[in-house]
Amino acid sequence: MSQFQPARLKGKKVLVRVDFNVPLDNDFHITDDNRIRATLPTIQAILDAGGSAILMSHLGRPKGGPEDKYSLRHLVAHLQHLLSNRMGKNIAVEFADDCIGEQAFQKAAGLLPGEVLLLENLRFYPEEEKGDAIFAEKLSKLGDCYVNDAFGTAHRAHASTAVIAQFFAPDQKMFGLLMEGEVSSAEKILHVSEKPFTAIIGGAKVSDKILIIENLLQRATDIIIGGGMAYTFKKAMGGNIGKSLCEEDRLETARQLLEKATAAAVTIHLPEDSVIASEFSAQAETAIALSNQIPEGWMGLDIGPKAQEAFSACILRSKTILWNGPMGVFEMQPFQAGTLSVAKAIAEATRLGAFSLVGGGDSVAAVNQFGFADQVSYVSTGGGALLEYFEGKELPGIAAIRS
Ligand code: AMP
Repeated sequence: MSQFQPARLKGKKVLVRVDFNVPLDNDFHITDDNRIRATLPTIQAILDAGGSAILMSHLGRPKGGPEDKYSLRHLVAHLQHLLSNRMGKNIAVEFADDCIGEQAFQKAAGLLPGEVLLLENLRFYPEEEKGDAIFAEKLSKLGDCYVNDAFGTAHRAHASTAVIAQFFAPDQKMFGLLMEGEVSSAEKILHVSEKPFTAIIGGAKVSDKILIIENLLQRATDIIIGGGMAYTFKKAMGGNIGKSLCEEDRLETARQLLEKATAAAVTIHLPEDSVIASEFSAQAETAIALSNQIPEGWMGLDIGPKAQEAFSACILRSKTILWNGPMGVFEMQPFQAGTLSVAKAIAEATRLGAFSLVGGGDSVAAVNQFGFADQVSYVSTGGGALLEYFEGKELPGIAAIRS
């Protein structure tokens, strides 16, 4: 069983792996609480069903032992506030100074239905990232059931994300609601995608996206390539790209990907024109040029108007859309238009009935920044995990629940 079944959680102590790896400022205030908010529906469903929730997570990259700046204690007050607001009543969040050991065990054992316990940072133990089975077994003793709601770490075979699942019977482990939404959206894209299926891949580097492009060549009808990585392709095709971003050691890979696409009858769309700049700066002089005729000393920092039009037309024809990576340096106002036009086209295609998934840090930041997050079908919380999923890899966090 992998499906979330709250009815099974009545009276149970539910050990939930969440991804509370949120950014904190110097005063330990949370600067972006989206990851916490994303898992509130699961916690609420457990409490509403008459279970108690024992939450465990990592935070930051501690160097193998406790460090105050990575303590999950800093999250307690805000979690309490968010949960209480959501549930319309006061929900107290208990905290255990250690994720295993006597205190954690006692606090977990004493939990009553409707109560919440947050455990200290799992990564204060190196055993967590090593996937140590003894550590995983100790964690497993804290709960009667195991729920994995941490899609962001589903690509890691860590103790709390994967190894722990073997200590629970199949009917005592399941995905949480967030994980379920992530997995079903990703599976819809990869396995039941209605055609035409357009994947839009952008960002800085070809090298980061080779595996995903290769895997998508077997599934997509169209692949749009934008962002800095497009110039490696343009150069591989014999173009002049000035001082645009280029991975010289990937020119051959780019050529091979284009050949594979032709063989697989997948249309690759590269930007015909670009917004070029004299330097990498929001104050730079800018102009429009063909992407394969960029003058010496200039660099392409966004797709141009012709590319915007062509990409939008392709997106509007699509029934399935995956977007990973911006079309340009959208953090700087003069180079935003390309990414914005893609976000707009995806929103419009979604209104027309397409299924659209946006995933990967920077494209998610872009849809949020431009206000389109609620106009696409699904915005993923998983960066690395989502990429690995679309590279065709089996994610240990998913496999462990299903096995
Ligand atoms: P990635 O992390 O590989 O998805 O890349 C995202 C980053 O690529 C963003 O910070 C963008 O500013 C950057 N980027 C996008 N297009 C370009 C470009 N044409 N030249 C340089 N950087 C770019």
